[in-house]
Order: sequence, then structure tokens, then C-alpha cells
Amino acid sequence: MKEKKKIIRNNERPVQKYRFVVQVLFALLCIWIGIEFYLFVSYLESGGVAEFYSRPPGVDGFLPISSLMSFYLFMKTGHIHEAHPAGVLIFFAIILMSLVFGKSFCSWLCPVGFISELVGDFGKKIFKKNIRLPKILDYPLRSLKYLMLGFLFYSVFFLMTDAAVKAFLDSPYNIVADIKMYYFFADLSRFSLIIISALFLLSVVLRNFWCRYLCPYGALLGIASLLCPNKIKRDPISCIDCGLCNKACPSFIKVDKVKTVISDECTSCMNCVDVCPVADTLNLKPVYSSKKISKKLVAIGVVSIFIIFTGAGIITGKWQNNISRDEYLLHYKYMNSYGHPTGTDAVKKFNKENSGTSGHRRN
Ligand code: SF4
Ligand code: SF4
Repeated sequence: MKEKKKIIRNNERPVQKYRFVVQVLFALLCIWIGIEFYLFVSYLESGGVAEFYSRPPGVDGFLPISSLMSFYLFMKTGHIHEAHPAGVLIFFAIILMSLVFGKSFCSWLCPVGFISELVGDFGKKIFKKNIRLPKILDYPLRSLKYLMLGFLFYSVFFLMTDAAVKAFLDSPYNIVADIKMYYFFADLSRFSLIIISALFLLSVVLRNFWCRYLCPYGALLGIASLLCPNKIKRDPISCIDCGLCNKACPSFIKVDKVKTVISDECTSCMNCVDVCPVADTLNLKPVYSSKKISKKLVAIGVVSIFIIFTGAGIITGKWQNNISRDEYLLHYKYMNSYGHPTGTDAVKKFNKENSGTSGHRRN
């Protein structure tokens, strides 16, 4: 007969309400950045006549391709490119977060992750559970985000020469990339609207559809998180096999079947740890030690890493770019004539046009 386990109740406070507060604050920060950017663009639209509002540097965080190229250039030269410096600092912060606390950016800070979560909760209310795709569909779909990430990395790290990367970052297109992105969302085409609506509806039915299957940023953080030494660990001796952790996991990880969660989909949301009814059975711990990392430390750590990087950028003057008001007005005037070098042929053309400056092909 199976021996009955002595249960010591888990009286630790859940951390979900702190996570929700952090998510709301970060979403408000993004809305504030959006409003400031709208005012800045309104100034440009007026041809410099309306009241001037400075460009919020945080908008750089919404330019992942430019940030990836700046990151590449930083690795080569040690210098942060001047066009969107805040983007690289945010990129560093997010990578460090993933190396210390797993894919925590997705569940603690990312506004898209937050919206996906709310939409998923709404879907759960309607359908009484979150629908999970069968493995035969889930695995190939999950690989899509890695394919997109691979394509981005291949384009930047292998197809483009150093000179071409630098030329892209220096290009007027890159300087106004944030303004172009603003108009993309402010003036959505019917096609884009259909795509966004489809993603929204799919997220109601399939929890975190965008994050799980399509987000290349999430793919990058998922890879970085595999290098993170801190993992969710289960003590099989005290575990009573209630399966609550399994049910609570938004990433459909079978927490109750493993000793250590090693998954690119774990977002360190701490849902499983919060619901576990037995004290010290499920915790975040370093792989090399049995010392638990408190849930509050995850909250404080994630927020602190973000604040330290942004604060360091502001203090050292690396947060704001050095593009003047007049330069922006000039670029705005000619913005529609700036083309984007996309696709292999275009990249080749771009490399050719910018060869002979300082680059060499790396393949
Ligand atoms: S395993 Fe736990 S921490 Fe990781 S995603 Fe699932 S519920 Fe969140
Ligand atoms: S929540 Fe998971 S880890 Fe905790 S007792 Fe139940 S099955 Fe075991």
C-alpha cells in the first residue's frame, strides 16, 4: 500500500499579484511612450510649427531588427550606434534577464505577453479551459519562431558585411524606422488589420498564440533561458502528485512529471510555484544547489535589471540619440522616398553598394 505523505502546507504568499502590478506598470510605461511619440510625430507633421515634444528613447525598444544590428556592431567595435541607442541597452537588459531568471521578460514585462495573457484568460472563461494543440501540430508550429529568428540572424550575421550593417544603421531609413513603424500601426492597411484580428482571435482560442508560435524575440530569449542556471525544481519526495502545477502552467509544461523544468517555453511566471499546496516542493533553484530563490527576488530582480540598464543609459548619456530636431524635420520631409533593403537580392545589392568602405564578407 502506498504510504501517505505528511503534508506541510505551503503558506508562502502568491507572487501573481506583484507580477500583475509589474505588467500593468510596464504596459502604462509603453502607453506613455506611445503618447509622447505621437506628440513628437505631430510636431514633425506640422513642419516644426507646433509645440516641440522630444522623442521618447524607449521607442527604440520596439525596433528589434535595428537593435540586433546595433548589438552586432557593438560586439565588433565596442561602440553603441547613435541612431537608436536605447534599443541596444534594452536588448542587453532582456538578454541578461533571460540568463538570470529564464524567459522572464515574456511573463513579467512584455506588453504583448501581457495582452496575450489577458486574452488567454478571457478564452479560458469562455471555453472553461485553454485549448492545447496536439503535439503533431504544436511542435512544427513552435519551430516557426525559431525559423524566423534563424532567418534574421542569418541575414545580419552571415549575409551582410560589416560595412553593410554599419551603412544600414547610418541610413536615413533606420533613422526614421520608428516613425515608419508608427504610421504602420496608426494607418493599418486592411491586410494588416485582418492579420492582427486573426492573431487576436487565435489567442483567445489558443493561449499565447503569438508568443508560443511566432515571436522571434521569444525564440531568442527561449534559447538564452536554456543557459540560465536557475530552474523550477520539484521535490518528488514531498510532491503529492496533485497535478495543480501542471494545470496552472500557461506554457503547458508537465511540471508534475519532471524533477527540473528545462524548457524554452518556461517564462518564470511562478504560477506553478504559487499553486503548489506543499511547502518547499516546487521552487526556483540553481541547478547546482538546493537553495531556493524567493519568488519576490524574481520580481525585484527582473525589474532591477531593467532599471539598472535604462538608468545607466540615462546617466552616461547613451539613452537619447543625438539626432537634432532639424535633422528629423528634414528626414520626415523625404521619408517616403527611403527604401528598405529586404530580401536576399536586396541585401546583396545593399552589400554591393556599400562594399569597399570597411567590411568583409563573413561566410
Ligand atoms: S513551469 Fe512554472 S514558471 Fe515555468 S511557465 Fe510553467 S507555470 Fe510558469
Ligand atoms: S503542485 Fe505539482 S509539485 Fe506541487 S504537490 Fe502538486 S504535483 Fe507536486
